[in-house]
Amino acid sequence: MSNATTVERAAAPAFGPACLDATPAAARAFVRASAAHPAAPVVSSPSVSPPSARPAQRRFLVHIDIDAFFAAVEVLLNPSLKGKPVIVGGLPHERGVASTCSYEARKYGVHSGMNLRNAYKLCPQGIFVRGSYQVYQAFSDKFFSILHEYTPDVEDASLDEAYLDLTRCRHLYPSFSGTARRIKERVERETGLKVSVGVGPNKILAKLATKRAKPAGFFEVEPGREEEFLRDLGIESLPGIGPKSQVILRMLNIQKIGDLWGLPRTTLHSIFGLGGDDIYLQSRGIDSRPVVTSAIPKSVSRETTFLEDLWDRRLLLAHLAYLCDRLTLALRQGHCYAHIIEVKARYSDFKTEGRRRLLITPRQEMGDVYKIAEELFLELYSGSRLSLRLVGVKASDLVRARPLSLFEPYSDRQERLGAAVDQVREKYGFGSVLTMREKMLEAIYQFEKKRGFVLKTASLTR
Ligand SMILES: [Mg+2]
Repeated sequence: MSNATTVERAAAPAFGPACLDATPAAARAFVRASAAHPAAPVVSSPSVSPPSARPAQRRFLVHIDIDAFFAAVEVLLNPSLKGKPVIVGGLPHERGVASTCSYEARKYGVHSGMNLRNAYKLCPQGIFVRGSYQVYQAFSDKFFSILHEYTPDVEDASLDEAYLDLTRCRHLYPSFSGTARRIKERVERETGLKVSVGVGPNKILAKLATKRAKPAGFFEVEPGREEEFLRDLGIESLPGIGPKSQVILRMLNIQKIGDLWGLPRTTLHSIFGLGGDDIYLQSRGIDSRPVVTSAIPKSVSRETTFLEDLWDRRLLLAHLAYLCDRLTLALRQGHCYAHIIEVKARYSDFKTEGRRRLLITPRQEMGDVYKIAEELFLELYSGSRLSLRLVGVKASDLVRARPLSLFEPYSDRQERLGAAVDQVREKYGFGSVLTMREKMLEAIYQFEKKRGFVLKTASLTR
């Protein structure tokens, strides 16, 4: 048996079209044949875990997503907005994009990521709000604290989206579907926000079920009905198929997931490379990715667009300092240290530039990170003849612990300082401790002791 066929055999799911380059009927015959010879050697492939090949170990995953999150929070805080097209991200004349819009606004063709001016053209009667990251974060915290009461296996996919794996808790819950419905009811009751819930044997099917359930619905992909569920979904619903891939597939007259089953794996691979293998597996509802509970984020970033383009170097550095402060707070809260610090600047002509530095000793403290960010920023900006419209700072290549340095004397002074500042802020608000540099922003922005400065576009990454 060649290596390729071994992998395909291992990839055969307990349901749905088998991993054969054939029609679904032939694929089903293959599954029956595999079932008749259970002793056949199964070699695990990295992309497919053995449990999904055994029905007895069917996993039970719940995907839960808050509907139109930011817009829904705005409606909750101001009930007069109910039933109206709400667009969160900024005012119509401002620069920036819509970060979320209510379902009423979507009817006009407005979607998240759309330029605010275009959104206004499509929906002039829309209610535009700037939004507040801190308020959304508070709702998100509440959302996740409820989810964590049901299982320790919770993965936060974003502020308003999570995967729950209830498989390990099977003894606690007589009915998984019943539990998923109860979670939905409880989140809606306690947060006041509507959520959509999808249930399936793995992440991809649970997520696709949520898409089907939207808005505010519940959908379960029942055992044995995976193929029926997938067949008529549009190819655009698969996360591995972006706009460019869609164009190529539509040229091949492939519109639905069911149409993809006719394409051999080798063909998909030759068109899309490794992405083609993903499409091949996703379209068959095969996904062995675990729910990752304590993942270190890939990166943490904070950036802001200015109210108007800025020249003043001191003011630019004040913004940078404030963003570094916010960033390092997130690093400490996540118990992360960064090996890479990156600074980004966007000029008035929309050109964007970045500078990054690799750190041998990873850092998380405000003083250290700001010093590096300032140097990087000045390298970028000193030669520029243009004003800036945006500045941002990003920490990546994150690790959980700071290794002891061989060549520097050991000191935890910075860390103790950071912890002390965090404690004071927890008690008296973020704005209670600020550097002189940051205080310069008082002249520009609204200041709230609890939340600090209210920048124009709140950065939404974690
Ligand atoms: Mg959502």
